[in-house]
Amino acid sequence: MSATTKVIKEVTAANDKYAASFTKGSLPMPPGRKFTVVTCMDARLDPAKALGLEEGDAHVIRNAGGRAKDALRSIIISQQLLGTQEILVIHHTDCGMLTFKDSELRQIVKDRFNGNEEHTEFLSFTNVEQSVRDDIKFIRDSKVVKPEIPISGWVYEVETGKIRSVSV
Ligand SMILES: [Zn+2]
Repeated sequence: MSATTKVIKEVTAANDKYAASFTKGSLPMPPGRKFTVVTCMDARLDPAKALGLEEGDAHVIRNAGGRAKDALRSIIISQQLLGTQEILVIHHTDCGMLTFKDSELRQIVKDRFNGNEEHTEFLSFTNVEQSVRDDIKFIRDSKVVKPEIPISGWVYEVETGKIRSVSV
């Protein structure tokens, strides 16, 4: 038996409520609105609320920074197997990825766990607009997405809740 934590109690109580009025049990697997969002895991960013997404609408691929390199596997599956036809890359202001360098995080892992992450790319960045441009270019250059697929870039402002366009 695994120990019940405070978090487990909270999420299971919330899920009981959610499931009690759940009516979307027969949605198809492919996203109905046929697009994919690649964005950061930051807890302040709620893509469903901020972008008006309902269950079944879109794929939201999240990781630290919303980096495309980390998301590529999922992008391919989303497009080739599940029919999505557009990508939005959304990074955000005050991102944690702006606060460290890959070399620093490698050192932390080494010091604290005697671990070796010499080959892990943590994909930190120093400019949020540039990281969006870099990721769009990365997806294009990867040649695993058809050239006609629209890929747009955005910065979500944690201060205002607004997304602003990044010109590529
Ligand atoms: Zn972030």
